[in-house]
Amino acid sequence: MMKILVSDSLSEEGLKILQDVKDFQVDVKAGMKPEELKEVIKDYDALIVRSATKANKEMIEAAPKLKVIGRAGVGLDNVDLAAATERGIVVMNAPAGNTISTCEHTMSMLLAMSRNIPQSNASTKKCEWKRSKFMGIELYKKTLGIIGLGRIGREVARRAASFGMKLKGYDPYLSKDVAEELGIEVVELNELLKSSDFITVHVPLTDDTTHMISDKQFDMMKKGARVINCARGGIIDEQALVKAVKEGKIAGAALDVFETEPPDANSELLKLDSVIVSCHLGASTEEAQVNVAIEIAECVADFLLGRGIRNAANYPNIDAELYKTLKPYIAMSEKLGNFASQIVEGRINEVEVKFSGDITKYDTSSLTMAIVKGLLYPVLKETVNFINAIPLARSRGIQIKQTKTSIDEEFVNLVSLTVKSDKVTKTVAATLSPKREPRIVKIDDFYVEAAPYGQILMMKNWDVPGIIGNVGTLMGKHNINIAAMVFGRKTPGGEAVSILNIDSPVSPELLEKIKKLENILEVKSIKL
Ligand code: NAD
Repeated sequence: MMKILVSDSLSEEGLKILQDVKDFQVDVKAGMKPEELKEVIKDYDALIVRSATKANKEMIEAAPKLKVIGRAGVGLDNVDLAAATERGIVVMNAPAGNTISTCEHTMSMLLAMSRNIPQSNASTKKCEWKRSKFMGIELYKKTLGIIGLGRIGREVARRAASFGMKLKGYDPYLSKDVAEELGIEVVELNELLKSSDFITVHVPLTDDTTHMISDKQFDMMKKGARVINCARGGIIDEQALVKAVKEGKIAGAALDVFETEPPDANSELLKLDSVIVSCHLGASTEEAQVNVAIEIAECVADFLLGRGIRNAANYPNIDAELYKTLKPYIAMSEKLGNFASQIVEGRINEVEVKFSGDITKYDTSSLTMAIVKGLLYPVLKETVNFINAIPLARSRGIQIKQTKTSIDEEFVNLVSLTVKSDKVTKTVAATLSPKREPRIVKIDDFYVEAAPYGQILMMKNWDVPGIIGNVGTLMGKHNINIAAMVFGRKTPGGEAVSILNIDSPVSPELLEKIKKLENILEVKSIKL
């Protein structure tokens, strides 16, 4: 008998899938305190959570039998992925179940905001009758700017098109063809900001998207534009939004998510009449809750019954023996993809993976999956996993090629990745060190030996004296410790690549200062 603990409320439809398996004992215990969970978890093979349970390191360490954690939903902020991976626990999520609900919530916000429905509802219920005060605007023929054309952004586009809206989209990681098939005109961010009547964001919250709509972006918008955030709090800078609304630049905003949830009772935002809000309800529909519950129950049941791994955030779908052999290569491949993604600029349209040496004896498809997962992770975050990485990349218009050569004179094993975008082509190669640690050994034509961990600063520079001194001094002034440095050059005095492992992140301001140093050609801050 395998024991499954469901520690947050899960819809009946999901529970039934598990309860119908005679080998499963399913216990539903929602609302436990962390200490209580730590105590009971020791007997369970599987844990299913929504967002309330914190599956942290301590809890994971107290669960010797645990084989799988299923998250009914997308975000994995409440699961310590590293601790689970360390213990060999598979973590699964349900990334697709709430797309339609969140898209429909966005459409509700768009309509409610354009016709002042929440404001007139409140006023009419007070027996006021202020028809002229709540004059609205039509959506027909207006331009909707969609930032982030993933699952939700694209569904919003389909529905907005049926309202006769003109669609503009910005998503530097999606092929133009895919967007244009939906009738979306693909533009740069600034053009979208300047020309849209309504702007809606559907991107994950990453370093790049935090405050991607702030003072500068509001300044660029049309006077009277309206903005919507049904994605994640923090994508729109709340202070800048308050300012833009007060100055009359922005006619309205509709927010389902906030920088702090729930927002502070004194929040200026909540006092503004033209800002309409809901309490993170995007995925809160009966259907979405059922969809994610069914999706996760099926994934967890299949895994426990040995029918394969789906929607895993930390494991590819391969048999246990092969997994043991390939494990260090899988980790290395994921890092390689992640590294390449952060040094490539522009819209990626082709990925070529070349395996050489001994590794070619094995089925390397899981390594390609790991590379593509790593490549998409900085832009898709938890929604990309080992299983959906390749189909997701293809649906985004990225071609994937894989080749093998059994001989490599340079390294016993080498995984080489060439990424082509509409702006650049970059090649990065990695191998395992004698201690089976991943090492980046080649960047374009430069040989290096860098450990792909933590914070990294990668520079292209002229190979002249003084570079290390200048960069080191600047880092020192900003209290950033350099843990390791490696260099690669082709000819003395020519172009060179420098890689620095550092102990804390480089701020955008410092990055700009480094870029301006003499003899520096290019700088990238990478987080692995
Ligand atoms: P997705 O992964 O399918 O799509 C995200 C898109 O954003 C991708 O196409 C990606 O290429 C693009 N992107 C990433 N960085 C970008 C950048 N800097 N500039 C422009 N585009 C960028 O995700 P999804 O399922 O469509 O979800 C979109 C957002 O909605 C996420 O933030 C998700 O967390 C959120 N969400 C909110 C709720 C809610 O309750 N309000 C529910 C579900 C999802």
